[in-house]
Amino acid sequence: MKKLIYDDNNATTKIAPEVFDIMKPFLTEKYGNPSSMYTFGGSIHKDIETAREKVAQFLGATDPAEIMFTSCGTESDNAAIIGTLRTYPEKRHIITTKAEHAAVLNLCQYMETVGYRVTYLDVDEEGMMDLNELKSSIDNDTAIISVMYANNETGVIFPVEEIAEIARVRNIVFHTDAVQAAGKVPFDLTKFPADLVSISGHKLHGPKGVGALYIRRSTKFKPFLIGGHQEHSRRGGTENVASIAGLGKACELAGKYFSEKMGKIKKLRDKLENDLLEKIPNARLNGNKENRLPNTTNIGFEFIEGEAILLMLDAEGIAASSGSACTSGSLAPSHVLRAMGVPFTFIQGSIRFSLSRYNTKKDIDYIIKRLPPIIEKLRNISPYGEQS
Ligand code: PLP
Repeated sequence: MKKLIYDDNNATTKIAPEVFDIMKPFLTEKYGNPSSMYTFGGSIHKDIETAREKVAQFLGATDPAEIMFTSCGTESDNAAIIGTLRTYPEKRHIITTKAEHAAVLNLCQYMETVGYRVTYLDVDEEGMMDLNELKSSIDNDTAIISVMYANNETGVIFPVEEIAEIARVRNIVFHTDAVQAAGKVPFDLTKFPADLVSISGHKLHGPKGVGALYIRRSTKFKPFLIGGHQEHSRRGGTENVASIAGLGKACELAGKYFSEKMGKIKKLRDKLENDLLEKIPNARLNGNKENRLPNTTNIGFEFIEGEAILLMLDAEGIAASSGSACTSGSLAPSHVLRAMGVPFTFIQGSIRFSLSRYNTKKDIDYIIKRLPPIIEKLRNISPYGEQS
């Protein structure tokens, strides 16, 4: 395989070898159904419970029963919001932000078409939200506040502890999409009173197609996926045992490596960001510099198309991401950067690099060497006309 510098870890991550090892038996000889009465199937149930304990410990949940396994982060988000709306059918108002992932944003937009009222809170030019706007948006009809822990594009961290407290005082369910935050910031649900928290396996060196929703013991919840009695009757469906075991291991490793590796990741991210901003003119950081995930940087390069940068990076064996989503052939500028008011000439040329514990200084040095000539070349052929 050709050289790969993988710097797109907010999109997905490599499965840790230890995670793969723990999954293998469930994909080969241990294939029984965990709901079966006989030992061959039923004994597998305890592997699910072991994984549940690991996830609970990682998140600081007081009781493993507060963890419900799902099929992905998107399902966790949908289960949190729809499960809450089903629990409080008389309440018809949702509060969220303009910077959420599509798993929340598109769901909220859909809920508007079926009679719900949604407040989309603004974010400022640094991607931060205003708690006063949140407070003044709450009314007696508010069923749920759903605000992401950290933004996937910029890494900006939202004031979730304060939001959780505001929601607690007003007796409103608070959900946070922590898909990007889990494993990258210290997590302790004993100190942070969120009611519902979403995570996803493939963002923290676990497998794709598995996630979890933390449901605080005191939080009322009606199932989103209606079916059998699995997951304490909160989610029907035969458990994806291999991936659940993998998620448990991934959480255990994320907890273990957090203090050892996160400082190193942040140093590499800072070097990458500082060097690129220094070497490349007309470039700007998108998002608050201090208050963000240690692995993420989002840099706008003025007057060029992000997709062109990505293609040229790809030719050099570098995987990164642009803020734009390519839908049905048309290039839609990032809704997050637009909500932040990033100038259009920078939005189009915004690139996200997101690191993991598997990145090395050599990777970063390689990007720092390869990107500046790419930007220069693209600017020379840019259709935007004269620039410096
Ligand atoms: N929420 C956030 C913040 C994300 O970044 C993602 C994935 O990119 C999701 C939710 C969806 O997670 P999944 O891909 O597991 O459905």
